[in-house]
Amino acid sequence: MTSPRTYAPDDASVVVVIGSGAGGGTLSRALAERGIDVVCLEAGGRLTMADIVNDEAQMFGKFTWLDERIGVGDIPAGFPTWNCKTVGGTTLHWTAACPRLQAHEMKALSTYGKLPGTSISDWPFSLSELVPWYERAEHLMGVTGTHGIERLPANNNFQVMEAGGRRVGYRDMDTNNVAINSAPRDGRPSCLQLGFCTSGCATGAKWSTLYTEVPKAEQTGRFELRTQCMAIGLQSGKDGRVTAVRYLDAQGETREQKLRAICVAGNVVETTRLLLNSATEQSPQGLANSSGQLGRNYMRHLLAGVVAVMPGEVNMHKGAQCAGVIKDETRHDPARGFAGGFQLHTVMFTPETLANLLMPGAWGRKLSGVIERYRKLAALLIVGEDPAMPDNRVTLHPTRKDRYGLPVPVMTYRHHDNSRKLVRYAVGAAKKVYSALGAEEIYEMVDVFPSTHNMGTARMGDDPARNVCNRWGRTHDIANLYIADGSLFPSAGCENPTLTIVALALRQADYLAAQLESVQA
Ligand SMILES: Cc1cc2nc3c(=O)[nH]c(=O)nc-3n(C[C@H](O)[C@H](O)[C@H](O)COP(=O)(O)OP(=O)(O)OC[C@H]3O[C@@H](n4cnc5c(N)ncnc54)[C@H](O)[C@@H]3O)c2cc1C
Ligand code: SF4
Repeated sequence: MTSPRTYAPDDASVVVVIGSGAGGGTLSRALAERGIDVVCLEAGGRLTMADIVNDEAQMFGKFTWLDERIGVGDIPAGFPTWNCKTVGGTTLHWTAACPRLQAHEMKALSTYGKLPGTSISDWPFSLSELVPWYERAEHLMGVTGTHGIERLPANNNFQVMEAGGRRVGYRDMDTNNVAINSAPRDGRPSCLQLGFCTSGCATGAKWSTLYTEVPKAEQTGRFELRTQCMAIGLQSGKDGRVTAVRYLDAQGETREQKLRAICVAGNVVETTRLLLNSATEQSPQGLANSSGQLGRNYMRHLLAGVVAVMPGEVNMHKGAQCAGVIKDETRHDPARGFAGGFQLHTVMFTPETLANLLMPGAWGRKLSGVIERYRKLAALLIVGEDPAMPDNRVTLHPTRKDRYGLPVPVMTYRHHDNSRKLVRYAVGAAKKVYSALGAEEIYEMVDVFPSTHNMGTARMGDDPARNVCNRWGRTHDIANLYIADGSLFPSAGCENPTLTIVALALRQADYLAAQLESVQA
């Protein structure tokens, strides 16, 4: 499909957005609807609905970001983070859980105190400032349990979790706030409960910028999407402002687009890499990095899984994958022995994932003993708060280059002691849920997952000496360079990040539009 509008490479009146996922897709539409001309560069190609099939392995090959990344520390070495290179970004693959951050999590430093070895910090504004943007984001995405939108029905995995949860004393449980249609809405159908959410949702019931924000941006006539266009460097003028972006097109040719302002939403690793790769004589440590904080304070949420063989059939693969949550443990309660909290989500693991992650290297009877009882499996995913640490960071490999000729990103990540305590406690809590219902066997999946939630490498804060971006996501150093993804988060909370990314993108669009207008005036 071709974009309805095109802009000349030397048209310096456009705002360039890098990435068409949750942050970039949302921002592009919001700017274009305000009458601002937007060129969006997207490294991936554009799938049609006919390309989306209910087949995890096939879809993995179609949309996953597979260029080399190196993990160091407590993170898978060869596949440290899991995200997508495709129009719609990782919103094609995500499971659409959309909780809000809690007030105390946005004041992490004030609430938890200075945990040794961490660089946790408060957000530069409070939850009350974000609430109107959360409301807009929830309406835009059609989040269940908000704006009168009915919640999804309870699938079996949820019912098992809820029954066990009640037995151990949990009370705050529901089928989650998800950006999945429980009834037809916004031109898209309701969820069929087939359970292939991470394959891309062939029906379009799940919100993805591929078929929501991107086409709506195109409808404005103020938007051009350039697919298979990988941004490789930003160019600055004498005054330090970004004047153009260089990118490789689908044929591998180097191109350039002049611009008025640029918003980078490449999902943290690529956002950081682009700025580090754009170092100049004036900014030898990378663009917008006078604080030296670019790439630091990387957070990824603490993910662990618990899989139980239940006495009867559960069929965890049937139904929306993340439509179930226990929220009782999201509070901050130092009596548990750690700072921050965690969610317990229902989750579905395919037989392949179980073989690879639950029992790596296992085969024969040990593995088949679990797989043949697949219908009896129930599973929970722990999503825990990850404290920022200065040495958890994204850097460039000194010698290794990827297929674009760019230095390969290195993600260094080690757990804080607080995290280990949180995960131990959370795994114990999840096991109790299933033990309470007489589970026959329970397995743990700890330290096996790549990161699916990336946050914190260009964080927001009022002090330019300690933060890369200001409270609007504009870099402190460069007045026309913005960041529009999870890189901005000063703390992670224990809630899945995308609703917050979308809320911040909507807020940024409002601010940027006003800035551009005032310059024009
Ligand atoms: C299995 C899985 C389940 C998930 N479930 C949830 C969930 O339930 N709830 C939740 O909140 N979050 C979930 N997430 C995370 C969620 O998908 C991300 O938080 C969200 O998509 C991030 O939005 P983004 O815009 O920052 O990045 P993305 O959506 O990843 O988009 C970034 C885009 O930028 C493009 N890009 C990157 N670099 C360049 C470049 N240099 N030039 C051009 N284009 C570039 C990429 O190709 C990509 O399309 C999940 C993730 C995974 C992997
Ligand atoms: S379960 Fe619902 S959201 Fe998930 S893939 Fe099926 S229709 Fe889409």
